Amino acid sequence: MSNTILSRCEAKGLRLTEQRRVIVSVLEEAEDHPDVEELHRRAAAKDQGISLATVYRTVKLFEERGILEKLAFGDGRARYEAADRAHHDHLIDIETGAVIEFVDPEIEALQKQIADRLGYDLKGHRFELYGVRKKP
Ligand SMILES: [Zn+2]
Repeated sequence: MSNTILSRCEAKGLRLTEQRRVIVSVLEEAEDHPDVEELHRRAAAKDQGISLATVYRTVKLFEERGILEKLAFGDGRARYEAADRAHHDHLIDIETGAVIEFVDPEIEALQKQIADRLGYDLKGHRFELYGVRKKP
């Protein structure tokens, strides 16, 4: 992968300490949408010296620089994913907190149509679904 979080940090001239590099590697390995506490658990498993405060500061910095995107799913926990991920929307399981990613061409098109009808060129959107798994 050429456009990694690490390469984007370097492109933006961010100085990466050893601890920040560990946090970057945790972020790059994450295929889910971890919150800061979960990121800290994973980072501390690699380097016990990494504090929760360091993880907070690092993700905040990365968010400010456009490297990470902050997601808020209404449960009061900020979660993060790489900002350069291909566009997708999220379905949140409100019982388990599981986050399912999806892309639906009809929804994408419909949102463009709505913006168009209101006299706007659509530049982005957030679309989140909340549900509970159907019982069989
Ligand atoms: Zn996602």
